Amino acid sequence: MNIQELEKTPIQQVGQTILERIQSKNFQIGQIVDMILEKGVLCQASDIHLSPIAEGLRIRYRIDGLFEHLVTIPSQYQEQIVAYTKVRANLMSHKREVIQEGRVPLKISSNVENPHLRGRTIDLRISIVPTVLGEKMVIRIFYPQQALIELKDIGYNPSLLANLQKLLFDLQGMVILTGPSGSGKTTTLYSSMYEIVQKLDRYASVVTIEDPVEYTVGRFCQMQVDRLNGITFARGLSAILRQDPEVIMVGEIRDSETCEVALRAGLTGHLILTTIHSGTSYEVITRLINMGIEPFVIASAVTGILAQRLVRRICPQCEKISYRPERRILELFRDIFDVDNVDFKKGKGCPKCENTGYKGRTPIAELLIFNEDIRDFVLKKAKTSMIRDFVIQKGMQTFLHDGIQKAIQGITTLEEVFRVVSYKEIADVAASCRKQLAENLEKVET
Ligand SMILES: [Zn+2]
Repeated sequence: MNIQELEKTPIQQVGQTILERIQSKNFQIGQIVDMILEKGVLCQASDIHLSPIAEGLRIRYRIDGLFEHLVTIPSQYQEQIVAYTKVRANLMSHKREVIQEGRVPLKISSNVENPHLRGRTIDLRISIVPTVLGEKMVIRIFYPQQALIELKDIGYNPSLLANLQKLLFDLQGMVILTGPSGSGKTTTLYSSMYEIVQKLDRYASVVTIEDPVEYTVGRFCQMQVDRLNGITFARGLSAILRQDPEVIMVGEIRDSETCEVALRAGLTGHLILTTIHSGTSYEVITRLINMGIEPFVIASAVTGILAQRLVRRICPQCEKISYRPERRILELFRDIFDVDNVDFKKGKGCPKCENTGYKGRTPIAELLIFNEDIRDFVLKKAKTSMIRDFVIQKGMQTFLHDGIQKAIQGITTLEEVFRVVSYKEIADVAASCRKQLAENLEKVET
């Protein structure tokens, strides 16, 4: 199978071909490994998982957040596949009991159709852990172009985008991004800094401190955390501050020391962009308070918190067909939005989307802007639920509202929104919406 065929052939069929070759015993391990890696890149998987299970080495691609099965390699060839991949990554192929990490540059032929991949060298990062059934390998694929999507092309709704740009172009205070891993935080961070560099290059010097630097963008200075040389987030950040840049991106805030330094910097005329691992925008406030940060520091330094999830988009190549989402899903969302008379659409499935009906992803997001009211809540250490009740009363969209709206617009489906949020998140927002409705009714009656 040449690379053009590999690009056009559905994943399942590629898996079948690999299995047939192995069964015919007429194959080279190197060719099989190349097919696995190349197909992973061609179908734009974010990672390739090689997991040892009872039947052999199960190989799956994670595409738009979900797994697609490629093939399960029979056990007797499992070690050869792993060993060959390790050699490609300059790792110790004879050591099977240790944790190893390596990189493979994968050159993609100039004969492929996808212009973003044609002739490019793609960076694959390999992580290996020993398990009881053999070595488990996860290969992350880094697509260089994707780091620099313009903010307007990420898929935010227009009002959220405008508000976010306002916060960024103000060049001061702290803007926090939150969401679980794989929710597109890094992409948004890079896009934000890129936008600042594009529009405010004469006003702003942009520096980052990251662990690790995921993409070298080349348009601003990026510094990597290096504990061996004493560069922690907190120390790196303090050093950067002495050079007085306007914009600093702190990859992630994990400890209170980094948080303190970053917030103080936000207070003294710098724009700090950072991420915190949390669920919703309001929960971040509680996280910060629990880290021991003084509420007045949070209230005066933070300007906005963006919380997001990624949902799969309905495939643009697919025929869109009307359908009724499952009853239990409609029930869950009913209190948040009138979903009863909506003509919901989904993708029918086509070769471009491997018949899933989905292609690519888009964020569902909420932006909590720190106005006087929110600052008051922070100063009073108000409960998360109080802040949520308040912002819903004021008409702020939660990421659930955003998701439902995107399902109504036929950008994604309600099932996708349901997939990326928890029951608790839906129940919390629904409770606030019910409370709001009850208050409105009361007002009408009196
Ligand atoms: Zn399709």
